[in-house]
Amino acid sequence: EQRIIAGGEQDADGWQYSLRPRRLMEYIGQDQVKHNLTIFIQAALARKEALDHVLLYGPPGLGKTTMAGIIANELGVNFRITSGPAIERPGDLAALLTNLTEKDVLFIDEIHRLSRSVEEILYSAMEDYALDIIIGKGPSARSIRLDLPRFTLIGATTRAGALAPPLRDRFGVMCRLEFYETAHLVCIVKRAAEILNIPIEERGAQEIARRSRGTPRVANRLLKRVRDYAQVAGDGIITDRIADQALALLEVDQCGLDKTDRSMLVTIIQKFDGGPVGLETLAAAISEETDTIEDVYEPFLLQLGFLNRTPRGRVATRAAYEHLKIPYKTAEQD
Ligand code: ADP
Repeated sequence: EQRIIAGGEQDADGWQYSLRPRRLMEYIGQDQVKHNLTIFIQAALARKEALDHVLLYGPPGLGKTTMAGIIANELGVNFRITSGPAIERPGDLAALLTNLTEKDVLFIDEIHRLSRSVEEILYSAMEDYALDIIIGKGPSARSIRLDLPRFTLIGATTRAGALAPPLRDRFGVMCRLEFYETAHLVCIVKRAAEILNIPIEERGAQEIARRSRGTPRVANRLLKRVRDYAQVAGDGIITDRIADQALALLEVDQCGLDKTDRSMLVTIIQKFDGGPVGLETLAAAISEETDTIEDVYEPFLLQLGFLNRTPRGRVATRAAYEHLKIPYKTAEQD
């Protein structure tokens, strides 16, 4: 089971752990989600019941794991963390579930990647707080029902659409996390800088925030890289100029696009005449996984209005041409 229950942190370096807010009040942004969850948590606490199952969805790095931990903390219960791919067999899930105590939070990251057989066990666990397991083989096999404690499942996924409807329907609460506005990212950068003891000017924080693709994980990562640059090339203080120079070296442009984002847009424009181009073809052309394109790159480009999804494939918009300083050419039929 140790294999299943990850160390509680998927970030490669432990430093980010200290950056995770522990209380709902410290969680910056996502006001609608926070507002709703506050009510549901207070109601569950007042009734002394387990919180309804919660599905958190949205692009990676927006704070789903962080929010799940905060929910457990606010409820004052244990927080167990695992992920879809880590639960290989029904027995793995059974072991996790039978080890929970009343009202605990079980967090399953990447819940859309659960195998079919595991997912089916989850249905009765979520709905009836029971596990049906088969003991023995052949004619002497029998099924027994194990009662489970009332627990809260928190699932996280980058795509709610990839969940099987019977699973999706069993979540009483669904929260969609949005990209953060710059003002909120400024707060996140300043908070992280304070925790990590990094001297930063307001305008330095703004520069990093503006170029973080609306994503706290990216903001924290860029902050760390810019700090290195400030130490080597400056006097250690992050100013807007230092941030700008460091981000230029990292090839993060004014809109926060990185090399892969740009190569994707340039490929659509130059190899496929601006599109439409199918996802598979595009993935092959830039040597990326289709999943990575859909989960990581595309959502932000869609948000910026640089990319459109049409039934026939991906299309680069006029704004993308302008951003890349490529003359916009209208399609032949226009
Ligand atoms: P996800 O699970 O959605 O991929 P995480 O919860 O792992 O994202 O968040 C990534 C990092 O961003 C965390 O280390 C955390 O420090 C930071 N973070 C996320 N959301 C917030 C927030 N609202 N306020 C402050 N820091 C945040």
